[in-house]
Amino acid sequence: MSTSLWCGEPRLRARWFDGRSAQAQAVWAWLSEDGRWLLLQALATESNEGAAVLARHASRDVVWPERLRHGERQALLPDGGMLCEDPAPEGRQNWDDWARRSGLRDSLTVRSMRSWRLVGVSVLLSAGLLASAWVWGIPWVAQQGAALIPAAAEQQISSEALDYVDRMWLKPSTLSEAQQELITRRLAAVVRRDEILRAGLEPLAEPLPAYRLHFRAGPKALGPNAFALPGGDIVLTDALVELAADEPDIITGVLAHELGHVRHRHGMRLALQAGMVAGVSGLLVGDFSALLAGLPAWLAQADYSREFEREADLHARQMLQAAGISPRVMVRFFERLTAYQRQRGQDKSPLPMAFASHPAHAERIAFFNAAP
Ligand SMILES: [Zn+2]
Repeated sequence: MSTSLWCGEPRLRARWFDGRSAQAQAVWAWLSEDGRWLLLQALATESNEGAAVLARHASRDVVWPERLRHGERQALLPDGGMLCEDPAPEGRQNWDDWARRSGLRDSLTVRSMRSWRLVGVSVLLSAGLLASAWVWGIPWVAQQGAALIPAAAEQQISSEALDYVDRMWLKPSTLSEAQQELITRRLAAVVRRDEILRAGLEPLAEPLPAYRLHFRAGPKALGPNAFALPGGDIVLTDALVELAADEPDIITGVLAHELGHVRHRHGMRLALQAGMVAGVSGLLVGDFSALLAGLPAWLAQADYSREFEREADLHARQMLQAAGISPRVMVRFFERLTAYQRQRGQDKSPLPMAFASHPAHAERIAFFNAAP
């Protein structure tokens, strides 16, 4: 028997990946008496009640597997780790028994799928969705969907995303308020010039969606960097401000690229593409909890396509030109970044979607070099 009742709460024997090492550890998992915490303890310490708890997560932040699913039972932990069923043949059955006895509630998707009214809607929706995806492709459907997400849901998704990267990787910026304000104001002025120019050239052009600039100190692996999260939050690292201390137009250029991702709603489109059904069902029933639940796991591996990067680069070039700044500042940024990464050693970035995770290949350099 892999579950045990020896001290109150039912325990589950499982494998735990801590999100840093590829090696799984055998653990006991159980929920605290009030059900609010998931606790993990090394398996070997069964006889030792006082042994240290290896990890502890708020159970509402854990993405629990759905019982309807046939695949391996896996729970995604908020720190990027994962809890998997025991490899023994009865591992899955034990997991399900444990979940039931622990009073774990099904995720919202499963509960809403059990309501017949919603099943009908979902079936129609999925059929319509599949048909559109067949005809126009999933990226097209995601593009249409991204524009339809209600503002309140978009705000919730974006603030959860920012919360998550803050918890996982970022620290408060050490830049002075004056420095932060200067960069914010400089960017606002460039945005304003760009809007005026666009309004003259294409009167019906959509205005830039709302964006918010955040200053943060990142871990070493993030280095001089900036990234745009789904929904319009842009994070700029102190290391990038330092790297461009004598040429602040570089910061403006990188932020203009990130604003390109915001303008084209790349983050939300990518999130919808990844959680297609969850996202589009959300559009219909106004409940984005399924998309929200998958957000942490998604953020850690989401990567903009070359096409999205090209669109953002084009946006940066136009915005810099509108402001009278030579787009060649971007070439100088690539040079500095390469030198920085060579000197410090390049760690794998925890956020593939961040600017510095994309190589400064020849095509990009030529693109910015060609501009006056
Ligand atoms: Zn980018």
